[in-house]
Amino acid sequence: MSLQGKAAVITGSTSGIGLAIAEALAAAGANVLVNGLVASPADDEAIADSLARKHGVKAIFHGADMRQPAQIAAMIDQAVETFGSVDILVNNAGIQHTAPTEEFPLEQWDAIIAINLSAAFHASRAALPHMQRRGWGRIINTASVHGLVASVHKAAYVAAKHGLVGLTKVIALENADKGVTCNAICPGWVDTPLIQQQIKDLATRENISLDEGRRRLVGAKQPSQSFVQPEQIGALAVFLCSEAASQLTGAALPIDGGWTAQ
Ligand code: NAD
Repeated sequence: MSLQGKAAVITGSTSGIGLAIAEALAAAGANVLVNGLVASPADDEAIADSLARKHGVKAIFHGADMRQPAQIAAMIDQAVETFGSVDILVNNAGIQHTAPTEEFPLEQWDAIIAINLSAAFHASRAALPHMQRRGWGRIINTASVHGLVASVHKAAYVAAKHGLVGLTKVIALENADKGVTCNAICPGWVDTPLIQQQIKDLATRENISLDEGRRRLVGAKQPSQSFVQPEQIGALAVFLCSEAASQLTGAALPIDGGWTAQ
């Protein structure tokens, strides 16, 4: 399957799932704009350079902060300026914080809603006219099993991810006859930096090793007893960009080792 000549913007792609999606799209031939906050600018440029060298595509880095709508719009403009279009948008950046609702820090609620939900609206709003103009587009939202079911102590995350699944359906409906699809990928546990704090908390609480904490975290929710691999999510994203998936729109697709089948 070739995505040669397509331009993809992947938010939160300096690490974890986003990086694996950027790798998979670049391997399929797409030019990619990578984005993220945590690493130093030099490291972020290095990620773009490595993708370009490895896959023979164009790759650039943009450091837009997903809490800032103006920076998100500037990121989409930069992609259009560099590649001539935005054909694929992966709204993937996300953060986590866990606490009981009555103790949930206000600034964490605001940050999670901004990064995990509102940023997808701002990026889609800016990218859609370019996709509609060319009559082809793919928006892929990295939601979560927590866009479909809840867990305790994740008020902001579950609210944001359920909201993201709703936004996915609206964008899908509005663009169903325009060659533009919009879907949500709903992963279960994936071993990335995002869940390390939860593993540490569990290990401390139960006085066990980090490895045992990792096993128990997955075992409690995921019948497969195995983590989802970031590369498997990358492959699903590439499939969603294919012509075979042109009638697949408005869906929330679990990739969760059976978590939400229970
Ligand atoms: P990660 O921590 O490895 O990656 C998060 C990415 O988002 C990084 O590139 C980081 O720089 C970026 N980011 C964070 N705040 C940002 C901001 N303000 N502006 C721009 N970029 C920002 O985590 P991950 O597990 O790869 O998470 C990626 C997505 O997958 C998230 O939306 C997360 O909710 C979702 N998800 C993760 C899991 C899991 O088990 N790891 C499960 C389901 C869904």
